Amino acid sequence: NVRVRFAPSPTGPLHMGGVRTALYNYLFAKKHNGTFVLRIEDTDQTRYVANAEQYIIDSLEWCNIPFDEGPGKNEKYGPYRQSERKHLYKQYADQLLENGWAYYAFDTAEELDAHRKDHEANGKTFIYNWHNREKGKLVNSLVLSKEEVQQRIDNGDKYVVRFKTPQDETLILRDEVRGTIKIDTNTLDDKVLFKSDGMPTYHLANIVDDHLMKISHVIRGEEWLPSLPLHTLLYKAFEWEAPKFAHLSLILKPVGKGKLSKRDGDKLGFPVFPLEYTNEESGDVSRGYKEDGYFPEAFVNLLALLGWNPGTEQELFSLEELTEAFDLARVSKSGAKFSPDKAKWFNQQYLQQKSAEEVTEFFLPILAKQGIEANKEYVQKVVALVKERAIFVNDLVELSDFFFTNPTSYDEKAAKKQWKEDTGSLMTELISVIENIEDFSIDNAQTEIKGWITSKEIGFGKVMQPLRLSLVGKLAGPDLFEIMTMIGKETTIQRIQNAVS
Ligand code: GLU
Repeated sequence: NVRVRFAPSPTGPLHMGGVRTALYNYLFAKKHNGTFVLRIEDTDQTRYVANAEQYIIDSLEWCNIPFDEGPGKNEKYGPYRQSERKHLYKQYADQLLENGWAYYAFDTAEELDAHRKDHEANGKTFIYNWHNREKGKLVNSLVLSKEEVQQRIDNGDKYVVRFKTPQDETLILRDEVRGTIKIDTNTLDDKVLFKSDGMPTYHLANIVDDHLMKISHVIRGEEWLPSLPLHTLLYKAFEWEAPKFAHLSLILKPVGKGKLSKRDGDKLGFPVFPLEYTNEESGDVSRGYKEDGYFPEAFVNLLALLGWNPGTEQELFSLEELTEAFDLARVSKSGAKFSPDKAKWFNQQYLQQKSAEEVTEFFLPILAKQGIEANKEYVQKVVALVKERAIFVNDLVELSDFFFTNPTSYDEKAAKKQWKEDTGSLMTELISVIENIEDFSIDNAQTEIKGWITSKEIGFGKVMQPLRLSLVGKLAGPDLFEIMTMIGKETTIQRIQNAVS
């Protein structure tokens, strides 16, 4: 029975790497008819950000990868916010204290700092574990008597509960992506599991919740790989069956090495968030893929291929196809390079796959926002004419503005080159030619205008280029006769007149 979870800490907007973790969990769950759980890991109150949880939920929804269980939804193993599960964790810390897998430590932050400096001065790294914890320097229940420990607790001394890492053992860890990893336990420190303020740390809460929520596979970012030894040991200490683990490698920026951070992303000119995110406290706004005009299907498709490959040449996948093809065994061990151009390519593919009718539905509200009211049939015709040059629906604005409004300016460079001394009189003559075209259809307009140009024994360019400038404002756009019949005879004449004067 496959049960996976996405367990973000609501500390801010969701980065691309976070969405990818969610996506891989979703795909894995769906592929195996399993359950995708959302758990909010909000035990660290100092890093809590008010609207981040909702943002995460909205992001998953926009990507069309909703969770099956989570806050407010099928709360079978709830609550799903760790802050609402606080009362649960102490008994587990106590359990480990009782069976010897954990101990109390009373060292103050200053003392620990001093030890760290001491070690550094001798060229050593300070590891809070067997190397030093039993030398009587550290103040913990491994060196204090039972009475002393009780007295300190009764006194209200601050303490933490630390995991007692076994010494001189070689751990064999298994990762679904990386295979087998060997770790010498002597290199591990005794991580804090629980604090005297009643709060568990990430490690304890995470393991307890994965167990209680019956998680079968933990799929998460590579940054958690260093926690795998401890987590594996914790399952052993509790005598629980451990889930399988898969750690996903980083998403790398296009050039050089390093993790993709928001700053890097912004610097490189692409956002790393799926949605627009407003930080409630600072009011800072981060614009995401949605605002950039990405289709969620395109975003999900490109994200899926950042760190996984199907083993074939296929690049375009619907969510159903991704679900079908996804396999942890094909998740790559090395970091996936993000390419902004490739990202755009994906969106372009999805846009081109859509019919003019579908694209029109996206385009109409954008036009309305610009104060342009045009009927749907007309817009659909326009879309059909210009769509192939667009990457985003938003591109249609620039590609098609001349279908809706008269040009207010003309491309200067082009005008200089194309607008000759005799152009004005030619255009005036053309106006009367057009006026006399009774049936202003593409074929007819073309025959009449071309016939007139031929009779004048001048090159087509001499008329057609200035005409394009007059109608479009620049030397771009689809077939001129298409444009003329779309905007109509009157507007055509009007625009030529505007250009002449
Ligand atoms: N709360 C952790 C995070 O923010 C979860 C790590 C995990 O999946 O175990 O990434």
